[in-house]
Amino acid sequence: MSQTATAIANQATQGGPMLGGPLLGGIDCDVHPAVPNMAALLPYLDPYWQEQVTVRGIDGLDLSSFPLQMDAHGRPDWRTPGEKPGASLARLRADALDGFGTQFAICNPLYGVLAINNEHFAAAIARAMNDWLVAEWLDAEPRLRGSIVVPAQNPELAVDEINRRAADRRFVQVLLLAQGDIPLGNRRLWPIYAAAERHGLSIGVHAGSIFRHATTSNGWPSYHLEDYAAHAQSFQSNLLSLVHEGVFNKHPALTFVMIESGFTWLPTFMWRANKTWRGVRAEVPWVDRAPSELIRAHVRFTLQPTDAPPTGADMARVLDMIGSDDMLLFSTDYPHWQFDGHNVWPDGISPALKRRILVDNPRNAYPRLQEARP
Ligand code: ZN
Repeated sequence: MSQTATAIANQATQGGPMLGGPLLGGIDCDVHPAVPNMAALLPYLDPYWQEQVTVRGIDGLDLSSFPLQMDAHGRPDWRTPGEKPGASLARLRADALDGFGTQFAICNPLYGVLAINNEHFAAAIARAMNDWLVAEWLDAEPRLRGSIVVPAQNPELAVDEINRRAADRRFVQVLLLAQGDIPLGNRRLWPIYAAAERHGLSIGVHAGSIFRHATTSNGWPSYHLEDYAAHAQSFQSNLLSLVHEGVFNKHPALTFVMIESGFTWLPTFMWRANKTWRGVRAEVPWVDRAPSELIRAHVRFTLQPTDAPPTGADMARVLDMIGSDDMLLFSTDYPHWQFDGHNVWPDGISPALKRRILVDNPRNAYPRLQEARP
């Protein structure tokens, strides 16, 4: 870490005033550099896949995970006419890094890898995306950190990709989606968790679906907003799966970061999980602590978009019921439209907690952020 960054981090940690503004020196745990289109990945594919993509006409496709023209995909003042939101490093630098005085920002590229049925093709695209991220973003901007995109539909290939990237300490986590083929606690995924734990990487779980199953437990919704608003249920079922399949017992050093999950539903969710566990825990004797204890110890949540209650007093009560100051991580979700202007803080968060959310909690959630800058 540079002297300036260290000074800022120390200042934030020690509770001093933030230089130049309420956010300077923060760690943004969710920004989205956008792959412009499949053709942009061609230089990063090997000759076989270059030919396959071109011959099959796939080079004209765009596997973007968001409907690009929808308001939520790009805040109006972060859009450049004719350009995909998030596709420009210069704009990300100006809007997100300089705009918020960011020390580090963690890149979470979302580009359909997990929805590709051909596992070999998915692995090639994941590899190309990670090379693209290194060459066009991480090498060009020292404040950026990366998430490893993996073909999680084949854990063996996913582990290969994790091993390939692990030596580059700018990668700080492995990126998964909230709605994949199987619940995240499933044993089939454990090799991915073992590899992440071995390399000191965290697991990021971003909102999103491979759309091979209905996106709600009641079947397919008709509208994007239903899908979006109901997404908390997929995070909740994944948390239950991670707890009760025993992932946290098996991988005690691993941290999961839920990204764009919301978090104010945690008190009632943890209450129900604890109550049910107390009643029928003979079914899962390896779960030796209440689910809420395991979640507080191993799971973190990004701030934006905040599913905030109506008043600051309500928010303070919710935070009190969550029962930990360690769980929230600062995020802007750049370039998505999750808050207005630069007013990223919901009411009801104390200055001391803001400092934890901005710097301390992200540094603890991502061990590699504590290392000296490469
Ligand atoms: Zn996001």
